[in-house]
Amino acid sequence: MGRNYNSENTIAERCEICGRETSHDVAIVIKTESKKAKNAEFSREPYRTSQCQVCGSTHSQRMNNA
Ligand SMILES: [Zn+2]
Repeated sequence: MGRNYNSENTIAERCEICGRETSHDVAIVIKTESKKAKNAEFSREPYRTSQCQVCGSTHSQRMNNA
């Protein structure tokens, strides 16, 4: 059973650690930001996380840049 990196949740993007383009597992997660609890509207925000398949490093990026 070979690993298939062409699934819809795996993309090629540049890894800062590897210094080149590698396969990443991508997922969308909702993170609760307790630091902003007093502002309920922004207490939960969607993040796009990607994990490098080569070095295992994880990158998170907030999706709503409003
Ligand atoms: Zn990497």
